[in-house]
Amino acid sequence: MRVTIAGGVGEHGRNCFLVESRELSFLVDCGVMAGAAMPWPRLTDDQIRPLRYVFLTHSHADHAGALGWLAEHGFSGQIVASGATLLQLGELPAPALTLEDFPSGNGIALYWGRAGHCAGSVWYSFALTDGLLFFSGDYMEESLIYNVDPVRDTVADLAVIDSAYGPEARTPIAMRREFVEAVRPFAEAGQPVLFPVPRYGRGPEILYLLARRWPAAPLYGDEAFRRQLDALAADPCWVQPAARSFLRSVTVQPLPDAPPREGFAFVSDPRLEAPETEALARQVAGQGGVLLTGAAEEGSPAAALLREGLARFARIPVHGTSREYLFLRRHNRFGRSLPYHSEAWPCRDRTILL
Ligand SMILES: [Zn+2]
Ligand SMILES: [Zn+2]
Repeated sequence: MRVTIAGGVGEHGRNCFLVESRELSFLVDCGVMAGAAMPWPRLTDDQIRPLRYVFLTHSHADHAGALGWLAEHGFSGQIVASGATLLQLGELPAPALTLEDFPSGNGIALYWGRAGHCAGSVWYSFALTDGLLFFSGDYMEESLIYNVDPVRDTVADLAVIDSAYGPEARTPIAMRREFVEAVRPFAEAGQPVLFPVPRYGRGPEILYLLARRWPAAPLYGDEAFRRQLDALAADPCWVQPAARSFLRSVTVQPLPDAPPREGFAFVSDPRLEAPETEALARQVAGQGGVLLTGAAEEGSPAAALLREGLARFARIPVHGTSREYLFLRRHNRFGRSLPYHSEAWPCRDRTILL
């Protein structure tokens, strides 16, 4: 069996792994590299045409954003992902199948579990006739709101494991504590704070963390954010019970036309690409704070705000660190393991023979 790293090792983005086993070939994830001149996975048309499946770990663009490109390059297989992920992705360029309906047999036995990164996010364990493979996807065991099936005692010849935060030394608890401290000056001065967040994932975690700490602060969200909260509040599969009842109890108002005077506002545009969200961020920066929580790609308006001192960065834990990577290695039986999603771990071999 051969595993080819088409992206995602030694870099943050473009996650894509090609598996060629005796019976079939498939991809795990097919993401883009935001802001890159050549953002696509490193795959040739000859590698793409025989693919039977693309298994998606979740809906974020760094894992699923190259599906259209893949179809243009001759992909004629099926897209496989959790029902929640497929719902988030909407219209797709190829036929799709939910994991819940994936048939066993055909030289592939598939196990999966919830990865705690966002609704719909999963890890995969593949038992193929010529080897065992594990992919963590983006993985967070200590999510405040998402359910997770911790990976223990899993056997694999090769394990690809989230280590996006690399040498970051803090635990998730310490990261959250510092995050709250970054918000505190604004919250206590009655000033507004704007959070540009991805469409799915960490936004509701931030809301859950802050709205319990400052229950009187008004909450605002754009339409996508408020729709996401409604879906999570009613989702026992992906969301923990306490978080669900909390989400049912809070009121998140639509974003007003003028920037809010106080409280916490969420916009589903992490890089501030829409001119109106960038304008809103610049206005809020004059009265309070703009907090970025993910990688601000070079060239994005979010990166410009950071450079101008109008926004600051505070991490909310939704990925693994090197320590968590080593923890998973210790508590499973992985012959070989490969940390991905970080420049801290360079890519030594693009092709791994098992
Ligand atoms: Zn993600
Ligand atoms: Zn990712």
